[in-house]
Amino acid sequence: MEKLVIVGSGPAGLTAAIYAARAALQPLVLEGMQPGGQLMQTTDVENFPGFVHPIPGPELVDSMRRQAERLGARFMADALTGCDFTEETKKLVTMTGKTIEAEAVILATGATARWLGIEGKYRGRGVSTCATCDGAFYKGKRVAVIGGGDTALTEALYLSQIAASVTLIHRRDTFRATPSLQEKAAATANIDLLLETVPEAFLGERKVEALRVRNVKTGETSELPLDGVFVAIGHDPETAVLRGKVALDESGYIEADGGRTSVPGVFAAGDVQERRFKQAVTAAASGCVAALEAERYLQERN
Ligand code: NDP
Repeated sequence: MEKLVIVGSGPAGLTAAIYAARAALQPLVLEGMQPGGQLMQTTDVENFPGFVHPIPGPELVDSMRRQAERLGARFMADALTGCDFTEETKKLVTMTGKTIEAEAVILATGATARWLGIEGKYRGRGVSTCATCDGAFYKGKRVAVIGGGDTALTEALYLSQIAASVTLIHRRDTFRATPSLQEKAAATANIDLLLETVPEAFLGERKVEALRVRNVKTGETSELPLDGVFVAIGHDPETAVLRGKVALDESGYIEADGGRTSVPGVFAAGDVQERRFKQAVTAAASGCVAALEAERYLQERN
C-alpha cells in the first residue's frame, strides 16, 4: 500500500512530489503519457521565479525531477488507465496492467492542446499543435498560426525566427494574449495579422499546401498558400479516465477547492483543475497546496 500516489509529472506533480517527499510520505509518481508535461514543449521559460535568464522547459522539468528524487520521491514510467475511489483505499490501474493501492492520491494529469476538428489527414502532414516541436521543419517557409491567446502569439514569435513568413489568423479583431506579446508580434516584420478570419479547410495533395479561410464579417473566402499551420486554440483537461470518479465541471476540469476534490483523500493540482492561469508557476503552487492537504489528510487519518 502506497501512502501517496501522484498522477502526472509536470510542474504540478513534481512540486507535489517535492513537498510530499519532504514530509516523509515517500510519494510514488506515475509519470503519465507525456512525462514532464507541456513544459517539455516549451523553448524558453522566462517567467518562472528564480531564473535570471530564460530556461528551456525540459531543463526546468529535469531540475524539479532531480530535486524530487533527491528528497525521496519514486517515479514509475506508466500511465493511469482506470481508478476506483469509492473505498477508503484508492485503487489505480495503469497502462501496463498494474493495480496500485494508495491511502491518498494527487491528480496532476494536466491538459492537452485542442485541434480545430477539420485537420483530417493533414495532422502531422503540415498541421501541428506545437511550434517548438515542429517549427524547425519550416525553415524559410510560409506558416500560419491559428488563435489569439498567449500560446498563439508565443508560437508566432517563435516561428518568426525560423520561417520566412508567419500569418497569425484570429477569429476576432482583438486578442486575449497579454499586451506585451501583442506589441512584440506587431513589431515583428514577418508576422502578418489576419483578423476576423476562421480556417475552413486544409488543401493539398499529400500534405498541406494551402488553407481556405473565411472572413467572419464579409463571408468572403480565400486560399492562402502555406507550408505549415500551427493550431493554438487552447487546451482540454486530461480527465477522460476520471469521469464519474471525481466531480468535474462542464468543461471537464476537476472541481477542486484548495487542492481538495469531491472525494476525501483525492487531491488535484495543475492545469487539470485550472481553467484560467495555465502557468508553470501556478501549477507548481497548486502542487504544493495539494501535497500539504494530502499530508494533513494522512495525519488526521493515521
Ligand atoms: P486561450 O484559451 O487563452 O486562447 C485560445 C485562443 O484560441 C483564443 O484566442 C480563442 O479565440 C481561439 N480559439 C478557440 N477556439 C477556436 C476555434 N475553434 N477556432 C478559432 N480560434 C479558436 O489558450 P492559450 O493556449 O493561448 O492559453 C491558455 C493559458 O495559458 C492562458 O491562461 C495563457 O495566459 C497561458 N499561457 C501563458 C504563456 C506565458 O505566460 N508565457 C504562454 C502560453 C499560454 P477567442 O479569443 O475569440 O476566444
